[in-house]
Amino acid sequence: MRADHGKFDLDQLPCTAFRVTLVHRIRSHCAYTRQGRGLWPQRMSRRRVCVETRWPPVLGKDDAMLQDAFGRSFEYLRLSVTEVCNFSCSYCLPDGYRKKPGPGFLRLDEIARLASAFADLGTWKIRITGGEPSVRKDFTQIIETLATVSGVRRLATTTNGYRLKDNASQWRKAGLQAINVSVDSFRADIFHKVTGHDRLEEVKDGIEACLDTGYEAVKVNAVLLKGINDQDLALFLDYVKNRPVSVRFIELMRTGDNADYFKRYHVSASVVSKALVQRGWVRKTREVGAGPALEYVHGDYAGAIGLIAPYSKDFCKSCNRLRVSALGKLHLCLFTEMGMDLRSFLQSDDQQDELKAFLGKSLQSKAVSHFLDDGITGGNHRFADIGG
Ligand code: SAM
Ligand code: SF4
Repeated sequence: MRADHGKFDLDQLPCTAFRVTLVHRIRSHCAYTRQGRGLWPQRMSRRRVCVETRWPPVLGKDDAMLQDAFGRSFEYLRLSVTEVCNFSCSYCLPDGYRKKPGPGFLRLDEIARLASAFADLGTWKIRITGGEPSVRKDFTQIIETLATVSGVRRLATTTNGYRLKDNASQWRKAGLQAINVSVDSFRADIFHKVTGHDRLEEVKDGIEACLDTGYEAVKVNAVLLKGINDQDLALFLDYVKNRPVSVRFIELMRTGDNADYFKRYHVSASVVSKALVQRGWVRKTREVGAGPALEYVHGDYAGAIGLIAPYSKDFCKSCNRLRVSALGKLHLCLFTEMGMDLRSFLQSDDQQDELKAFLGKSLQSKAVSHFLDDGITGGNHRFADIGG
């Protein structure tokens, strides 16, 4: 955004959704640069900009943008492709995955239609998740399918890494650009205790394979657990000293199934941020459109540290993601509702317009925030069901 946008006439823009998006972007940018006054378009008062950003967009054929009633735009889809997982992480599937009766998980053709509709509405980033996405036999084909959807510019996955060592290169060739690998501890005994598997070395080898194969972003996810890994910051820092890897500490979230576990092990990510600042790490300026992670960097380290703190104030303000479960249900938030069925719109190529209209309409009911602080976990019994 440059200051000469003062000459810009927003009223002349062709469609409402585009105007709303543009105004929202300008507003985010102003907040970001703290130079708001000079950048506001002269023909719009601040009051009117605020009113317009809350104006529900009307999604027409040419209006390519998913926006909610609070001016947030959603260009990022987290798509779960299975609920199955071979690990039994203590905070997610402590008793392992148990098969449930009912319909199967999304098929390749359904995945292709879903992604294509989202991409038409402005989604450019898709993360494949689960359960453990790589347990699917057709995982490479899922990558290939999503990578070729027009408009998808960033394809990522989150994995426990058990198939990574042997497949990193194949998945990269199929079109996967970024990867998050869950490693809750770099101590083998703790890794075993948390995941139920003695596979730390294999998973680490998998991460090296990703670095060697030219992934555009390699991240490590670690759920912060009191008394288990919250004192291990030094080990994670050693890991990113010479590796261009970003570690993401995720605050443990309460789900329908883990109330007691949550009480016992939840710890605020502020313990990490304080320790980072003491060690000379600095908060990276947030980029416009960035998600809710707060990222810290240090000149002596090749990697970075990110914090995902859903219990912090204003966490939901920067929400930019929607979720679809492996059973084809749209979740406007990880918490708060049971999911809206999309599968009936995924059975033929002729249903794309119907699906897009449904998505645009559904988004208007997205709540301003999760209500986790009130102990409300909505329909989320465990992350493996919706896709974390
Ligand atoms: N199986 C893959 C994995 O573990 O990376 C992908 C799915 S997993 C549900 C996605 C992410 O959600 C993982 O990084 C996991 O650690 C995180 N997760 C699961 N349950 C969680 C909880 N209750 N609170 C916070 N993060 C959680
Ligand atoms: Fe499986 Fe991922 Fe859940 Fe662990 S966090 S049990 S790896 S789905």
